[in-house]
Amino acid sequence: ETGDRAYARRFQLIGDMRDALTKSGELTLLYQPVVDFASGLCTGAEALSRWHHKTLGDIGPAEFIPLAEGTALIRPLTHWVLDTALSQIADWSKTGRSPKVSINISVRNLEESNFADTLEAMLDRHNVEARSIQIEFTESVLVSYSARALDQLGALKRMGVSIAIDDFGTGYSGLSYLQQLPASVLKIDQSFIRSLAVSQHDQKLVRGIISMAHDLGYRVVAEGIENHEAYDMLASWDCDEAQGYLIAHPLAPAMMDKWLDASGTS
Ligand code: C2E
Ligand code: MG
Ligand code: MG
Repeated sequence: ETGDRAYARRFQLIGDMRDALTKSGELTLLYQPVVDFASGLCTGAEALSRWHHKTLGDIGPAEFIPLAEGTALIRPLTHWVLDTALSQIADWSKTGRSPKVSINISVRNLEESNFADTLEAMLDRHNVEARSIQIEFTESVLVSYSARALDQLGALKRMGVSIAIDDFGTGYSGLSYLQQLPASVLKIDQSFIRSLAVSQHDQKLVRGIISMAHDLGYRVVAEGIENHEAYDMLASWDCDEAQGYLIAHPLAPAMMDKWLDASGTS
């Protein structure tokens, strides 16, 4: 794509996003199951956004989330994600299901001084408990985290929301630096998991991350697990939770229900 066309596409996507958020039904959330290594049972699911644009077709979050983050749209977009996920959790609880739903947020959201308050009001409105959700955000953005973002994270933690650091290992921050944050879960980046079966270097690295993270009191999730070799290695290193195509792809709610029935859990 030439620069002009890429620019035109970004311009159109940004222009159409507000419509997609308010009325068109083009945005949806999929849920990717996360299972406990020890028991094999489903402990939760990660909510992942999808946008089917009326003329441009499927747009992935790797494209539209950064566009939203570059504008004020990240605020209503995250609001839509939270509202949709909470309403799904409320529906699931009516049928006796209770997967903990992990929701991706942008550090830009943490810079809103009322983010935690807004979330608390939404939890009340949907009659969903704070411990039914987890908030995840990437480590790379923490390089620029502000006092205000830390305040919001502290408030979320006090509410009982669990906090996870996503894509761990790709950023600049070491574990000791992360200790300043009230997170209890580390998600190891997929890039280290993908090559686990063939790379001794990545094996040492991932094993080291898991053991250090445990020493510091974190639960560890491995994401992007695509083969049994990686799954078995991670299990033998006491990794806590597993996510990846080997277990399940991101699923629409009805498919998630079928998957939960078939796997015999929550
Ligand atoms: P992420 O939070 O690290 O999510 C995991 C991504 O890996 C998802 O891509 C998921 O579909 C994909 N994945 C899961 N298992 C496997 C596997 O075994 N192999 C491979 N190759 N990929 C796997 P997706 O849905 O395209 O999302 C990409 C990124 O976009 C997410 O990475 C997250 O950073 C962001 N994102 C997605 N939805 C949202 C959202 O609602 N809000 C925000 N702020 N960010 C979002
Ligand atoms: Mg994530
Ligand atoms: Mg990730």
